[in-house]
Amino acid sequence: MAKILIVEDNALNIKLFCDLLAAHGHQPEAVTDSRNALDAAREFDPDLVITDIQLPHVSGLDLIRMIRKDDQLAGVPIMAVTAYSARGDEERIRAAGAQAYVSKPISVVRFAETVDQLLKNGHDRTAQAESDEPEIDNPESQANDSGDGPGPGETGGEET
Ligand code: MN
Repeated sequence: MAKILIVEDNALNIKLFCDLLAAHGHQPEAVTDSRNALDAAREFDPDLVITDIQLPHVSGLDLIRMIRKDDQLAGVPIMAVTAYSARGDEERIRAAGAQAYVSKPISVVRFAETVDQLLKNGHDRTAQAESDEPEIDNPESQANDSGDGPGPGETGGEET
């Protein structure tokens, strides 16, 4: 079960998304006024945010950018849902910081698959985790292992 915040101004879509997510065992929460979305997200602490792009007041693109700049929420996966699929839309949505993009009217299967995929990938902690991660593989030494001759310091005695 995952906590999923839905930001959507259309009541029918809210019902559809909530029903779909609940049917998959998730816990959806909906916000209709995008001006409340950031506060709601901080409070709800979702595993995934699904946001409409065409929203009154704060656009979905602006909301995505705000989430990406928020200390608490920066790593939360975001899926954008939009009725327009004009040329360049997907690039703009991804550039703002969403990982996925589904166009309306949604395909139920594609919607569910995208949700599953984003939840599987989970929060993007690379920004914070980078310095903590130990260097596991040294490509240089691996390259030496498959080299032709004995490396420096090795004595002959080729095995057969
Ligand atoms: Mn809308």
